[in-house]
Amino acid sequence: MAKRVERSVCAADENLGHLEEELLRGGQEVLCQMLEKAAQQKADAAPPLCPVCQNKLSRLSKGHWTTIQTRFGSIHVQRARGYCRRCRKWRFPADTLLGLPEEGTQSPSVQEMAALTVSKMPAAEAEQVVERLAGVKISAATLGRAARQQGQRAQEEREQLDQKMSTPEGRTQQDKDLQLQLPLEPFTLVIELDAWNIRERDDWGQSAALRARGQEPSRWHWAYGGTCFRLNQRAQSATGRPTILSRGYVMTRGGVDALKEQLWAEAMRHGLGRANEVLIVADGAVWIWNLAADRFPGARQRVDFYHVSQHLWAVAHTLHSDDEAAARAWVQPLLAKLKADESCEVITELEELQARLEGVRAQAVEKELSYLQSHRERMDYGRAQQKGEPLGSGAMESTCRQYQCRFKRTGQFWSQTGDEALMCLETFRRNGRWHLLFPHSIDPSKN
Ligand SMILES: [Zn+2]
Repeated sequence: MAKRVERSVCAADENLGHLEEELLRGGQEVLCQMLEKAAQQKADAAPPLCPVCQNKLSRLSKGHWTTIQTRFGSIHVQRARGYCRRCRKWRFPADTLLGLPEEGTQSPSVQEMAALTVSKMPAAEAEQVVERLAGVKISAATLGRAARQQGQRAQEEREQLDQKMSTPEGRTQQDKDLQLQLPLEPFTLVIELDAWNIRERDDWGQSAALRARGQEPSRWHWAYGGTCFRLNQRAQSATGRPTILSRGYVMTRGGVDALKEQLWAEAMRHGLGRANEVLIVADGAVWIWNLAADRFPGARQRVDFYHVSQHLWAVAHTLHSDDEAAARAWVQPLLAKLKADESCEVITELEELQARLEGVRAQAVEKELSYLQSHRERMDYGRAQQKGEPLGSGAMESTCRQYQCRFKRTGQFWSQTGDEALMCLETFRRNGRWHLLFPHSIDPSKN
């Protein structure tokens, strides 16, 4: 390796990048040998017990070879195999000790690389990125499979975490943890919700048959998301805005009910049980306000300001279809009134206007009016501004857009289990829980 580096130093047409590549490649060979030796020692030390039920294994035999893909290349390890009478299964205790999945030969580091890259980009791209950055060649198919496996593990972990929140012991522990993080000042817990649609392969291959029956194959399904954060009015940032103390995310393909339970558990982890106030902010979708009433009774509700303003703009364009300046002149005083907590006056004005109109225009105004009427109690934007609370659910909408960048690429089709697994990985990372899946990813110098 020293010789290769020396040659590269002398080569006038090679720069630091070439040296980095030389060292990476040379280093990998050495590291691979060291890893193989250490892995063998670890495998040899595995106790002859069933890793699932801890029962003593019988019919033990040694010398079963396996090839493991690691971040330094493939290593070969031999380990013992035994039969668990309780599980009625053959077991390799060393595999569990080394952190290998039950059916898979990727090291934890490679599992993490797959999870991180494939939850961000298509597997074919991930293959190239991993090869360039880590210097190991792992096929797109292997990366995709490993990422889905890790995503399923994340889903199981999520279920356990959520279940813990529904037990009194889990909640007490959570309370203690929150107190440890920082002394709890009075705070408002803000919850935002939104949804977006995703393309899936559910009727894949049946399209022709469905069309023959006069049915259009539907490939768009909803993904539901929510975020919650603690807004502390006392601890203000330099700009005078209340600080966000902690934030959690939920994103699921499992339907509104799955979102409801996941979001509730996430909100609990961020102090739902201790909040002075809970505030829900979202657009006008009916499912959102049903969910809010069902799982977060007593929470204040606010409909997104931008969505409301779009409904007023629709009226403005009905009244002044060819005159943008006139439409603007009509809508602006109303928007100002909304921001001054005078939504009742806005509604009264529209009611009077609607009574004066006839035909199509009356119908158009009535439609927008009924939207405003149904959200009458959810338009406290004056108060929102005073208290430094969000006027809308922009934070969640932008989160949804970020997920869409990955899950809604042109020509991509997904399966529900595939989406849910990868989405779950992305959410684990956002929520700062990556280390629960990949304990080795914690930086020891930070503890
Ligand atoms: Zn067992």
